[in-house]
Amino acid sequence: MKRSGSVLVVCHCVLNANTKIYPLARYAGVFIEALEDYLKRGVGLIQLPCPEVTYLGMYRWGMTREQYDHPRFRRHCREIFEPILDHLVALDRAGCDIEGVVGMDGSPNCGVHTTCVGFTGGELDHRRVRSCLGNLRKIERFGVFMAIVREMLMQTGLQVRFGAVEEQGDNKGNEITW
Ligand code: SF4
Repeated sequence: MKRSGSVLVVCHCVLNANTKIYPLARYAGVFIEALEDYLKRGVGLIQLPCPEVTYLGMYRWGMTREQYDHPRFRRHCREIFEPILDHLVALDRAGCDIEGVVGMDGSPNCGVHTTCVGFTGGELDHRRVRSCLGNLRKIERFGVFMAIVREMLMQTGLQVRFGAVEEQGDNKGNEITW
């Protein structure tokens, strides 16, 4: 039997860059460099659903954490993570090691070490767009979806570490940072 007995949970766009907000994407489809070591060791991959695409589709604008942090959206996050949680509980009970959950730093939803804030609000004209962009900043906090994933894992009694890769910024390495 060749099973490795271990899995890594990854946010959707680590395996499919096409779900990202245009024009983000520093890899074409799968972030192979970040996963290479895990794949060589035979670690299985579990792909999380993308909370933004399943809520707003591909014609969404880039938004900040404050905009997504709303009860209805949080319910949506819980709903889409529930089947994955059931899957992870089943694997855990069968003795499978869950190596960790990998998010996307800087994302309002999948950030782990950092997320983005700075919502300004109101109608957008060119002056407001400039002031909105000037307000955007990263802070050290989980994104909305990852915070819910962590909360639901903890409630189920699963101790799982969280790491992330980075789409933009100075720490743009190819490795998962735990
Ligand atoms: S919400 Fe998460 S999975 Fe979806 S595009 Fe953003 S970082 Fe990727």
